[in-house]
Amino acid sequence: MEALKKEIEAEGIVLSNEVLKVDTFLNHQIQPALMFAIGKEFAQRFADQGITKIVTLESSGIAPAVMTGLALQVPVIFARKRKSLTLQDHLLTAQVYSFTKQTSSEIAIAEKFLANTDRVLIIDDFLAHGEAGLGLAEIVKQAGATIVGFGIVIEKSFQDGRSKLEAQGYRVESLARIASLENGKVQWLV
Ligand code: 5GP
Repeated sequence: MEALKKEIEAEGIVLSNEVLKVDTFLNHQIQPALMFAIGKEFAQRFADQGITKIVTLESSGIAPAVMTGLALQVPVIFARKRKSLTLQDHLLTAQVYSFTKQTSSEIAIAEKFLANTDRVLIIDDFLAHGEAGLGLAEIVKQAGATIVGFGIVIEKSFQDGRSKLEAQGYRVESLARIASLENGKVQWLV
């Protein structure tokens, strides 16, 4: 998606050979027009899939997920990362390992928001090692719902997330695919 790649080139900060910072439009400040374009792009790519729900992970997946839900006219559910007072019983949960933090954390969605008749599109901001994606997929499977695929805003193709998700048979659609972040520069895969 050209507009997204342009924004990454203009605003992205390469923090290391592994990490890209995009806090001017996605991870802290959000640019609604770009997010809306992203939502419409995901909606178009999965238009014929009979999607009934979007699932994402708080907090950075929410903006692109909501815009996709708006375009497809379906509800959006974000998995929560920590137990809150109002999120207690009847939960679907999974463990997600973070390579950056080197810790596991539990993510959860209330059972009542997913049914076995649902056809779910999973959206996330970044795909790195695929751990967040696999955790979200685990929750959707616990509900007995069908996973239609993954919509990823920025894929770091030099890490193994895509191959892990594809090994499970999932379709992965990424809007910007990064081949390398070496020498402080973003190199595109395609
Ligand atoms: P994974 O579970 O695929 O290893 O990592 C995905 C999650 O880690 C994303 O939801 C995102 O929040 C975070 N993440 C991974 N790599 C990056 C990165 O290069 N930049 C930013 N801003 N977040 C990242």
